[in-house]
Amino acid sequence: MIQIKTPDEIALMREAGLITQRALAAMRQAVAPGISTGELDEIAEASIRSEGAVPSFLGYHGFTGTICASINDEVVHGIPSRTRKLREGDVISLDCGAIFEGWHGDSAITLGVGEIRPEHQDLIDVTERSLWAGLAAAVAGGRLTDISAAVEASVRSHPRAYGIVDHYGGHGIGTEMHQDPHLLNHGRPGRGPKLVPGLALAVEPMVTLGGPGTRELADGWTVVTTDGSYAAHWEHTVAITEDGPWVTTAEDGGYARLAELGVKVAQRA
Ligand code: MG
Ligand code: MG
Repeated sequence: MIQIKTPDEIALMREAGLITQRALAAMRQAVAPGISTGELDEIAEASIRSEGAVPSFLGYHGFTGTICASINDEVVHGIPSRTRKLREGDVISLDCGAIFEGWHGDSAITLGVGEIRPEHQDLIDVTERSLWAGLAAAVAGGRLTDISAAVEASVRSHPRAYGIVDHYGGHGIGTEMHQDPHLLNHGRPGRGPKLVPGLALAVEPMVTLGGPGTRELADGWTVVTTDGSYAAHWEHTVAITEDGPWVTTAEDGGYARLAELGVKVAQRA
């Protein structure tokens, strides 16, 4: 079922989004060679709880972390661990969610650890740009797969043949982290549910330096590329409003990046 939120409910999702964003910012500050993904997890949990919110991943189908920490060929759902230390040159994706007064925020970033190879930085940048292309298509009057098509077109606009991870994608979000509809990162536009004010979506492109295929490790969580190529993952939660997309997990609500892309969007607190 697709959940349509009232403006007051979207305002609570904005609070959850900002709490999620600040947890990611705290981890971003701490990322360096030698820190473990378990320590990053503790930083995120402390940040979220200090604001009266609850980590949404912790306990989700038995997941043991506040964050997913996915390194290099790991795409998503890496389990944080005190024994998994970051090394110079790693590419790490940090995915995090918070629940505030029953409402969810969900967001992910991918960062280089110390100095990384230029092709890895390009992968990170291409994936982030495709996220914003998708968010820019989250406008009332459109259809769900307008977002999918915008993500794909953005990735394909680069001369290098990047892989767009198949099967995994974004999702509706509200009083649960994962709601209908599922949002693929590729496909033809103009299909799927109508984009209406009050619909909130997590948009989350996953892009690789190789092919689109993935497999799950024996830990039952970690998703890696089948060809061993590096992957990047970026995610924001966006609410569709009468005044344009409201990126609840971006500090400025997405205003600057969306305005740059020519999207009519309200400047909000
Ligand atoms: Mg996420
Ligand atoms: Mg998500």
